[in-house]
Amino acid sequence: MTTNRGRVLVVGGAGYIGSHMVKCLSSQGYIPVTLDNLSHGHADAVRFGELVVGDMGDRALLDRLLSKQHFKAVFHFASLIQVAESVRDPAAYYHNNFILTKQLLDALVDHGIDRFIFSSTAAVYGIPTTDLLTEDHPCHPINPYGRSKWMIEQLLQDYEVAYGLKSASLRYFNAAGADPDDRLGERHDPETHLIPRALRAAMGTGPALTINGTDYPTADGSCIRDYVHVGDLAEAHALALAHLLNGGHSCRLNLGTGHGYSVLEILDAIEHVAGSPVPRTVGPRRPGDPARLVADPTTAKRLLNWTPKRSDLAVILEDAWRWENLQHQSHAEPG
Ligand code: UDP
Repeated sequence: MTTNRGRVLVVGGAGYIGSHMVKCLSSQGYIPVTLDNLSHGHADAVRFGELVVGDMGDRALLDRLLSKQHFKAVFHFASLIQVAESVRDPAAYYHNNFILTKQLLDALVDHGIDRFIFSSTAAVYGIPTTDLLTEDHPCHPINPYGRSKWMIEQLLQDYEVAYGLKSASLRYFNAAGADPDDRLGERHDPETHLIPRALRAAMGTGPALTINGTDYPTADGSCIRDYVHVGDLAEAHALALAHLLNGGHSCRLNLGTGHGYSVLEILDAIEHVAGSPVPRTVGPRRPGDPARLVADPTTAKRLLNWTPKRSDLAVILEDAWRWENLQHQSHAEPG
């Protein structure tokens, strides 16, 4: 049995990445407590530790939670995450991703919590001026989603100076895949992400895939992204926690693989895994999408000693394919 390494709060622990984080923390001997309002998450995804159902902006709830027990650190996954939606409804994004996050941080500071691990995004960079993005690439986000995350990164810098809150801002590239134990995976509603939509199209359980533009300045005209396995993301967070608990400095780190795949390359790879074609049409560009986002993950590898283990595209797609099949079977079973 692993030792008890202390309690950690996982805000948004019922969501896609958060639920993998809860599992990872539990396997390492931490006691995870999830705070999630279940607006997007699923209670049955919290398979380890307590689930507290509530809003991160509910100060009375946070006061009760944070005064009842001591948390070594707080993880924050409770974000709105759709680029196109953020362009249509920026108010929701600034409210949830900035204002409510600030309220959460104020409560943490008031309760003396001094370590925070933040889900940031590659969208903070905007249009890359280099093939591989390093953390010192200028941040000029081009959509409200990216701006809301960038604003919190800046706030965190100020909160450290004034209140001593240390943080790791982890800039995800494209989270994908599912837990190999087949019990955790992506369950967004509606699902907007490329890989699950394309898998469903191949399986015949979803509509034909619309490719969001083939007129980008890339080799085949479709957007290039850097896909990283959700389990590898969770491990990087656990390493960031260890880094902060060991007295390490605050950091902003890219979490990606350094390899980019275009939308068309992803569809080819999915056809290989699924053994059937991905029905598709070409649509217009999606607002807020840069042509290419690929990480230089050197800093995370060096600082955290992080090595992605399941982020080969074939492994990501095999895990995601199994998960989609299981989801379909469980929905298809008579009640
Ligand atoms: N994409 C697409 N069709 C879809 C969903 C996504 O062409 O049905 C494209 C999207 O425009 C982007 C890439 O696939 O260029 C990855 O999008 P996703 O939503 O999976 O992740 P994001 O990059 O927005 O975090």
